[in-house]
Formats: sequence, structure tokens, C-alpha cells
Amino acid sequence: MIKTRFTEEFGIKHPIVQGGMQWVGRAELVSAVANAGALGFITALTQPTPEDLAKEIKRCREMTDQPFGVNLTILPTVKPTPYDEYARAIIDGGVKIVETAGRNPEPYMPWFKEAGVKVIHKCTSVRHGVKAQQVGCDAVSMDGFECAGHPGEDDVPNLVLLPAAADQLTIPMIASGGFGDGRGLVAALALGAEGINMGTRFMATKEAPVHENVKRKLVDSNERDTQLVYRKFRNTARIYKNDIAKRVHEIETTKADATFEDIKELVVGVKGRSLLETGEMESGVWSAGTVMGIIKDIPTVKELVERIIHDAEELINQRLRRIAN
Ligand code: NAD
Repeated sequence: MIKTRFTEEFGIKHPIVQGGMQWVGRAELVSAVANAGALGFITALTQPTPEDLAKEIKRCREMTDQPFGVNLTILPTVKPTPYDEYARAIIDGGVKIVETAGRNPEPYMPWFKEAGVKVIHKCTSVRHGVKAQQVGCDAVSMDGFECAGHPGEDDVPNLVLLPAAADQLTIPMIASGGFGDGRGLVAALALGAEGINMGTRFMATKEAPVHENVKRKLVDSNERDTQLVYRKFRNTARIYKNDIAKRVHEIETTKADATFEDIKELVVGVKGRSLLETGEMESGVWSAGTVMGIIKDIPTVKELVERIIHDAEELINQRLRRIAN
């Protein structure tokens, strides 16, 4: 067992989190993560309406009696999103842990606090972590430059981001971006984190609700197979480097007056959703992290979580102890 402030304060067996993943954070995966003793998050915006989110929370509860949470990401979207109603669905659904991301969660803090909901804010810089602590968040999830999805605009990888944040935070910190095995967990603990968050690694599990082709792609690809896009619009995202991603990058970097409208049809989320469902790997874009370089198989969620804990314990108790003596 690896006990940290995160496992103690959040009542979760293992210091492992499956954070929000658009189109992937559904009840099948989240309940499997919960049943494996880790903390999974349903992704609110994967559900088309707040009413659908309420149903998904109910469905997940039927699949596990362990705690799970909901991710609420507030970033630019193609269609306007009723964030207040999604937040209300989370609270009314009796969920007790929320992962906020994308924007300062301050406007929602009174709602969450009043309902006894713990808030983990996902952010990509030390200053945003400090702000999250100031506004009353219970933990932060620091997302380094290695991560899939939105790494922010500072490009600081976790080897520096995590200890820099640990020096300024008193609330527990989860390390996010680039984590996929026991070595990563031990490194995160050494750098001052109380646990790890994984997204891409959880996509390559038996229970992840994505097409087999996507899982195989994660296994067959390496750490160089990601592409940064939307940099020009200050909404940088790391996605899988397929031909569409290369095309988006080319438009952004060669068309001097490019706007988001020039790439919108290539990147719109519904196409990404269809790609993950159909396995047609050139039909849209999808988020993937550099951790692909260390993904070698497609285990069950339980096998993955147990392997990470086992390997981390062995690393701490055997190799590190030997070196330190
Ligand atoms: P979508 O179809 O609304 O947009 C597709 C992508 O374009 C998203 O990354 C979005 O942030 C970006 N985008 C939209 N309008 C933009 C604009 N005007 N300027 C710059 N960028 C713009 O998104 P979706 O796939 O339906 O996802 C829904 C939400 O989930 C979005 O907020 C998205 O950012 C978020 N998301 C987050 C992550 C993450 O890493 N946290 C990963 C995937 C999606």
C-alpha cells in the first residue's frame, strides 16, 4: 500500500487518478477505475446536456459503490455550454469530488463548498495552482507539458513544474502529464506530489469506451507521435499526430492571418468523438499524450492499477533502498 495525503484526505485506496477525458470519461471506465481502488472522473461535457450528465452519474453509481467524481472543463467551445447547469447536475447527483479545469473555479466554489464537494483544480502553471489554493480548492492536479489535451502556454515539463509547485502549495498536489507506470508514480512522489493522474494510459485499457484501433494506436506509437495545435489562438492542445493534425498545424503556421474558423471543421469535437467510436483514425483529431512512448499493452484497469502500485512499491523498497544505503 502507498498512503499519501491524497489517499487519506480523499478516502481513495491508491494514489492514482483518472482525470477528465472528453468522449472517454464515461461510466464504463470511471466505475472500473473506482472498483480498482483509484479515483475516476466522468467528463461532464461528454454528455450532451446536464440531464444526460445526471443519468450518467446514476449509471456509474449502479456500476460501483466506491467514490468517483466529475470533471468540469471550462475552455473555449464551438457551441455555447451551460456550465452552471452542469455544475448543478454534479451537486444534485450527490457527487462529492469535482475536477475543475480550464479556468479559475472561484465562481463555483460557494456552490461546491455548500454541498460538501471537494474540488481538485487541474492547472498547468504554479501561479494558477497558488490561485486555486487561495480560492479554497482541496487539491490541485498539476498538468505538465507532457500531457494530452491542453498543456497551457508556458511549456514547463513536470521535472521542474512539480517541485516548483510543491514549494508553494500546502494542499495536496496530484502530478499529471506523462504518467503511465510505477516509475512515474515514484518520481511524482519524489518531486512533491501525493499521487498521479493518468488519461492516455487509461485509454489503453480493456474497459476504456473507445474503438480497439485507438487502443492499438496508443500501443504502436511512441513519444514523438503528438502534435501541438491551437498555439496561435492561445488555447494550445496536444493531440495525436495524424494527417489532420499535421494539416491543422500547417494552416496555423503558414497562413499569416489564420483564425480558429480556418481549422474549425477539421478539429470540431463531434468528429473526434466519431473517430474514437468508429476507429477510423483519419476522420478527426483526438487527444493523446507523450506517455504513448511507454504504453506497451492493453490491460484491464485493475491489472494496470495493481501493476503500478506493485512496481512503485518494489522500486521504493528494493532499488532505491539499495542505492540509499
Ligand atoms: P469543441 O468541438 O467545442 O472544440 C474543439 C477544440 O477546439 C477544443 O479543444 C476547443 O478548446 C477548441 N476551440 C473551440 N473554439 C475555439 C476558439 N474559438 N478558439 C480556440 N480554440 C477553440 O470541443 P470538444 O472536443 O467538444 O470538447 C469540449 C470541451 O472539452 C472543450 O472545452 C475542450 O477544450 C475540452 N477538452 C479538454 C481537453 C483537456 O485536455 N482538458 C481535451 C479535449 C477537450
